[in-house]
Amino acid sequence: MDQLEDIRARIDKSARIAGRKPAEVELVAVSKTHEAPAIEPLLAAGQRVFGENRVQEAQAKWPALREAYPDVKLHLVGQLQSNKAEDAVALFDCIHSLDRPSLVAALGKAMERTGRRVPCFIQVDIGEEEQKGGCPIGEVPALLASAREAGIPVVGLMCVPPAGIEAAPFFALLAKIAGDNGLDQLSMGMSEDFETAVLLGATHVRVGSALFGARG
Ligand SMILES: *Cc1c(COP(=O)(O)O)cnc(C)c1O
Repeated sequence: MDQLEDIRARIDKSARIAGRKPAEVELVAVSKTHEAPAIEPLLAAGQRVFGENRVQEAQAKWPALREAYPDVKLHLVGQLQSNKAEDAVALFDCIHSLDRPSLVAALGKAMERTGRRVPCFIQVDIGEEEQKGGCPIGEVPALLASAREAGIPVVGLMCVPPAGIEAAPFFALLAKIAGDNGLDQLSMGMSEDFETAVLLGATHVRVGSALFGARG
């Protein structure tokens, strides 16, 4: 799988330039909108961590693939409605989009009920673009505290920087906010900017189109 090898090599190179270990950076292959025949070559090449942005789409697609590859890890990278929280906790191994008090309540309840404590990233509204979702920067400490109180394991911060402008300052800001809050994992960087993100400390890059080609 040439694309996979290429992306992994670029991640590893950026990590080394930054004096980091390549193994510290998890590649989340964002397979949203792509069906099993497009996903299978990545599985065959050894990729095991995948990202989806819709609960229903992932529910339709992954159970069969997981039967063949039981060690697959699924990450939810898209906005989550509170009424899908229980389904998300059942299906996903990591949630990148915890961004508001109502979702803390719903996920806390779902984890309590199922006993599955799914690691979560708090998504930060790093460019003050409300429509993208994300917790306002000033509200991160309070959301983190309430998530912990609800028994949700918060492992780090996630962001989607504004489109069309240099992402590096936003990645650097996310890293600073994470440090200020004692969090050490950073979900940042997509097809266009994952190398920059790795240079600035990303532990998880979410790469879709550079692996799968453009979405239809
Ligand atoms: C679709 C998506 C990605 C992947 O984007 P590409 O530009 O295709 O790499 C990453 N993160 C989120 C939250 C997404 O919705």
